[in-house]
Amino acid sequence: MLIPPRRLLFVVALASCAATARAQAPLGEARKPFAEPGAPRRTERIRSYDVRHVKAELTLDMEKDSLAGAVTHTVAPLHAPLARMDLDCGPGLKVSRVSLGAGGADLPFKHEGETLAITLDPPKPAGEPFDVTVAYSGSPDNGLHFIPPDAAHPDRPKAAWTQGQVAENRYWLPCYDEPNDPATTEMIVTVAKPYSVLSNGSLVETKEAPDGARTFHWKMEQPHASYLITVAASEFNVFRDEVAGVPVEYYVLKDVDEATARRFMGLTPKMIAFFSEVTGQPYPYPKYAQVCLPEFNGGMENTTATSMPDTSLLDRLEVQEGGQESLVAHELAHQWFGDLMTCKDWSHLWLNEGFASYFDPLFFERERGEDEFRLLMRSELDNYLAADRGYRRPMVETRYESATQLFDGMAYAKGACVLHALRGVLGDEAWWKGIRRYVATSKFRNVESDDLRRSFEAATGKDLGWFFDQWVYKAGHPELRASWRYEPEDRTVRLKVEQVQKLDDQTPLFRLPTVAEIVESPGKSRRVAIVVDGASQEFVLPAGPEPKAVLLDPEGWIPKEMAFERPVAERLFLLEHGPTVLVRIDAAESLADEAKDRPEVREALAAAWRRETSPTAAVKMVEAIDRGDAASRPALLAAAEAPEPRVRVAAVRGLAALDRDPAAEALLRKVWDDPEAPYGARRAALRGLVAWKVDDAETIVEAALGLPAGRFAIAATALDLVLDRRDARSRELAAAYVAHGRPPRLRYAALQALEDLAKDDASLQDLIVPLAEDPDRVVRARAWDLIRRHRIKKALPTLEARLKVEDFGFNARARATLERAIKALKEPAPSPEKPAADAPAKEDAPAPWDELRRRLDEMEKQIREIRDRVDEAAPH
Ligand SMILES: [Zn+2]
Repeated sequence: MLIPPRRLLFVVALASCAATARAQAPLGEARKPFAEPGAPRRTERIRSYDVRHVKAELTLDMEKDSLAGAVTHTVAPLHAPLARMDLDCGPGLKVSRVSLGAGGADLPFKHEGETLAITLDPPKPAGEPFDVTVAYSGSPDNGLHFIPPDAAHPDRPKAAWTQGQVAENRYWLPCYDEPNDPATTEMIVTVAKPYSVLSNGSLVETKEAPDGARTFHWKMEQPHASYLITVAASEFNVFRDEVAGVPVEYYVLKDVDEATARRFMGLTPKMIAFFSEVTGQPYPYPKYAQVCLPEFNGGMENTTATSMPDTSLLDRLEVQEGGQESLVAHELAHQWFGDLMTCKDWSHLWLNEGFASYFDPLFFERERGEDEFRLLMRSELDNYLAADRGYRRPMVETRYESATQLFDGMAYAKGACVLHALRGVLGDEAWWKGIRRYVATSKFRNVESDDLRRSFEAATGKDLGWFFDQWVYKAGHPELRASWRYEPEDRTVRLKVEQVQKLDDQTPLFRLPTVAEIVESPGKSRRVAIVVDGASQEFVLPAGPEPKAVLLDPEGWIPKEMAFERPVAERLFLLEHGPTVLVRIDAAESLADEAKDRPEVREALAAAWRRETSPTAAVKMVEAIDRGDAASRPALLAAAEAPEPRVRVAAVRGLAALDRDPAAEALLRKVWDDPEAPYGARRAALRGLVAWKVDDAETIVEAALGLPAGRFAIAATALDLVLDRRDARSRELAAAYVAHGRPPRLRYAALQALEDLAKDDASLQDLIVPLAEDPDRVVRARAWDLIRRHRIKKALPTLEARLKVEDFGFNARARATLERAIKALKEPAPSPEKPAADAPAKEDAPAPWDELRRRLDEMEKQIREIRDRVDEAAPH
């Protein structure tokens, strides 16, 4: 699964702060514990039987949003005669009959809560397989979702899709719903015409009944975990490729054209070839299909039939600013890491998610080169560091309330960073050998973290206990402080390195084999292997003449925060001649704050982006130019004409943040008027022109509100700008755009604004109440939170009813939001605060409050801008 983008938003927003905070003291005190103190210790569920095969025969009623049919499990008791067999079975399903196979004797059963307990009398002997058939029907609240067309997408066909991870297939398919019992499966699904069905494995046959109903028989001949079972039904367009004899299929709803489908998924054959080659394991299944679905969040690696959101289908202009191929790579990598070998319980989730999060950048290392790869890994590190600021936990974590908690920055980003660090320690050849051994010995099995360690140890002959201990079973990361000096007398470099992280039960002193690099002149340097393993160490490194710079871990293998003291002259040298892109970017970011008073720094930063060959690096260099300093305007004006669209967007953003100026205004107007300009550039131009209060600002905003381009990206920015004014027009637009049927992006912007606008406006509060039951789950969750914030008491019955029927699915946070809102509404209203006699009346509140208000407004504005950027960023 890929973290749904909306959850990623918070991670990325924090990460952009993390870049500047990298060298600062950690906010350790502010960390919350990961789990409540009483959280249970979870381990693998102990099995009493082995599921060999699952065969479901179901009819989906696309009109009534329901299903009916039967599922047959072929199982064999494991240890002793089996007298009772439990299946996971959602409470919303109505079980009508349980029998020994489809035509066999009835079996007594009891369906309570989420368990279907089946009595076997006489008990079934160990090792002897038998069939159990469960006939059932229902309109599931969870697991299976029916998505109708809506007012914003009237031409979109209805769709039905399932989402099994973490443990939601039980809500539509009685099954053993844990990851530790892979089985072969068969989905035989009947739907009315014109719908068709995608599921796991090969399409064995399609049958048409006289009444026009069609039955799709899908069969998966390789075992896989039950959370990977999927069914998706709609009216599809299917476009096809092939690689090494494997059919590759792109399913999109029938209103999507081929160019759009290929723009998103077209790299799939290349990715399959790459993963097959590097893992030593050819793609293991009979086909690979991907299906783009409405209202689907993130991505889900269902075996041979990955589900992804239709919002990843970008248009020709959107894709210039970065496509969503990372999502394709991540889910495809799961076909090996997750599907072919599955973590035995969720505490080892990083073996699924860390691998998918690393193999995605690995593909782009091959496809787009080393610089792009290293910058992708830098952003993984930033994502991990942001998560670590919230709470700290080891990657293997057995204490938790709900497994959904584990899908976090530790399993994904840190997992990727740790695999990268291991590659740094072992070197490419040994690391890939270890990976190939792990794949060869683990396929079609459940895995735990020690399996990975043993594979690497066997492949390399090295003890890696220390590595796994500090990175996998303990938590945190090294915080390094480094400096160097040259000793002319003995021509040595003294490199001082301290580990300053606060040591505790979780966070150790780290052992870090790495390299120091002594740069003598541009292009000429020497690397020395060192091991950082103490709290404070000084390394004496032989050198020639006085070096220009000294570096530690220049390729960025180690997940760390590092403050390396360097004079400006050394940083200027590294900005131009740094041997890796990470060194040059670090130099640029650390110089950015010095540019204001030093023209030579400003000039150096202004020139840096032109030297970078990776587009991401060039963008970062342009961002380093822009620190709100008018003197950087000429450099930004030049970058705004760059051939790379992402560089142009960054430059226009920088210009829009400066004061008004005739040349900049002319450029922003040109961008705004150009329908072929990247959306990000047009959005930045719109913000700039409005901030500068140009005469026709109002006309421009009203025109922007009507633009549907880029899934209403530009319109959303315009709406934000109006809503920010907090005036009558803001209230009018918030009320209009929050309504069901408006494009989701605009609804979310309107909802955001209601937080403030509805404070003293009962009519707007009345608008919020029905949103608690809105068909859009993002709108619902946001409405619950607004109801709590505004203490809208009359919403309590609605919220309580919602708690009973809501499908929280993957999203534990949504449940917490709803429960918190209900609790708050039940509490007595807080008594109004009585001001102390000597406290100033509100009207003449002291000036610092005004200042705080101003700063808060400023921060809100920045968050909106970050949101614009995140909207455009490809998820990783
Ligand atoms: Zn994933």
